[in-house]
This record gives sequence, C-alpha cells and structure tokens, in this order.
Amino acid sequence: MYPILTVGSVAFDSIKTPCGEASRVVGGAATYFSVAASFFTDVRMVAVVGDDFTEEQMRVFSGRRIDLTGLQRVSGETFRWKGEYSVDCNSRETIYTHLNVFDQFRPVLPESYRSTPFVFLANIHPALQLEVLDQVRAPRFVAADTMNYWIEGTPDELGQVIGRVDALVINDTEARELSGESNLVKAARAIQRMGPALLVIKRGEHGVLVTRDRGFFAAPAMPLEKVSDPTGAGDTFAGGFMGFLASAAEITDTVITRAIIAGSALASFSVEDFGLDRLLRLTPDELRDRFAEFKRLTHFDAL
Ligand code: AMP
Repeated sequence: MYPILTVGSVAFDSIKTPCGEASRVVGGAATYFSVAASFFTDVRMVAVVGDDFTEEQMRVFSGRRIDLTGLQRVSGETFRWKGEYSVDCNSRETIYTHLNVFDQFRPVLPESYRSTPFVFLANIHPALQLEVLDQVRAPRFVAADTMNYWIEGTPDELGQVIGRVDALVINDTEARELSGESNLVKAARAIQRMGPALLVIKRGEHGVLVTRDRGFFAAPAMPLEKVSDPTGAGDTFAGGFMGFLASAAEITDTVITRAIIAGSALASFSVEDFGLDRLLRLTPDELRDRFAEFKRLTHFDAL
C-alpha cells in the first residue's frame, strides 16, 4: 500500500439541484478526493483555506487517513464555487468561481510529502498542479483531473500537465473540448497522444469509459432512484480509483478494472445526499456491499 499526495481545491460550495439547495457547504475537488481515497490508503493534502474556514469545518477531515501538514491557512476568503443543475442533473451551469486565497497560493511541499509514490493533481489551476509535480521525487504514478474552466482559460499550462501524467481522469464533454473531437473514441486517442497512456472518461449517469494503450473497459453507474446532488461525484470517483490503485501491489489491467468499480461505488454514495454528507456517513461495510452489487450489475456468463 502506497500513500497518495493530492493538490486541488478546498472550497465553500453553493449548490442548486432539482432536489434542493445548499449554501456555503464544504466542498472542493481535493476535499472529495481525499475523503474518498482515505477509504483505501493514506492521503497527503496540499491546498489552502482562508481564515473563514473554521475548526468546525475542518472536522470533515478528522478521524480519517488524511495528513493536513500541507494544508495552508492564510488570511482571506476560501475558494468559492456555485453551480446549478439541470432538471435531469446531467448538466450544470457554473454561476461563479471565486479563486480567492488560491489566487496568491504557492504550494510548498513539506519534506515528508516529497517522496510520495502516487500523485493526484485534482482540479485547480494547472500552474499549481505543475508546481506540485516539480517538487515530488520520482513518483511511481501520476494522474490529473481538470475542467472546462482551465481547458478554456489556461490551455498552455494544462497542456504541460497532460504531457507529464500517466493518467488523465476527465469527463466526456471536457474530453471532447480538450481534443476537438466529437467522437469519444477519437477524442480518447487524441488525448493519449498528448501524454497519458491511461485515460478515464467519466460519463455521469452513463458510467465510465477507460482505455489503456488500445483496449477499452466500460463500467455503468449504479442505477439510483434518487440523485440529490452530483457535485463532487467526479472527484469522489477519482479518489476511490486512485486510492484502490495505490493500495494494490502493482498496476495491472485487473487492478485497474477493480479500481474503476471502487471509484464508481464511492461516487454512487456521494450523489445520494448534498455535499459531502453521504460520504462522511459511509461505512466500510456499506462500501463492500455496493462493490458486490456492482459485480452483480455487470457480470454475465460468456457463451
Ligand atoms: P465535480 O462535481 O467532480 O466536477 O467537482 C465539483 C467540485 O469542484 C466542487 O466542490 C467545487 O468546489 C470544485 N470546483 C469547481 N470549479 C473549480 C475550479 N475551476 N477549480 C477547482 N475546483 C473547482
């Protein structure tokens, strides 16, 4: 089992979905990622919060395998994001993104983080992702996530990140936007040519499409009667996926497929309630049961 280093946003989110609204709840890509990955391994977080982020809010991290030595607290306001979802929850509009303390943030990795073998560059300015990558020594496996905000706003720096990672975890719309290809298979091949051999394309309620070298593996999302809030599902998926990979002795095709199901199982819980609420209540037994449900959902006997 290897530890994982992650850099990304820790945020106050305001969310509106067909099921309700939540205002100024703790979120952020690194938060969802770390809580999810900590079900499988030790996580070392690099991020920044403002002085409006209280001890009470810090409690989302406590009692978990999350090292906060690299979480800086500075004066100013924490990153804020607001999103509103469509009636079917399949698309969302960003109402605002306020980088706040992330604007001036310069990550300095504590010495204890620098040799971390697994690295996940969660969603944040690609320049920060690069700064973190420059400070780690010979990592075994590096993966990254990003979103349209950075694809459109900082394409050059993002291109440098993508050129240096082993895996990219990205949603289908963003894969099309990044590659300029509308066909998802062509988009995948084009992105692989930019650097990452392993590409994980998140397709919301349609599950995940994975390719390593040339073959594809697909996993469905768990059919759920009620999706309360999809926020953070992608980061939760990435946390389960990377956490599972890092907990394995080596990365084989079988381990990758299991890691995809681990990520999908965690994400299926995350959407059941607003913000981090469902993940924070999740028990290892519930996770194990859902993993088994996924097996039933996807298994068939070949002729
Ligand atoms: P997801 O639903 O997986 O795309 O992740 C949503 C999370 O990403 C929310 O908790 C937001 O705080 C965070 N987020 C939204 N926009 C950005 C951005 N431009 N950079 C970093 N994090 C973001």
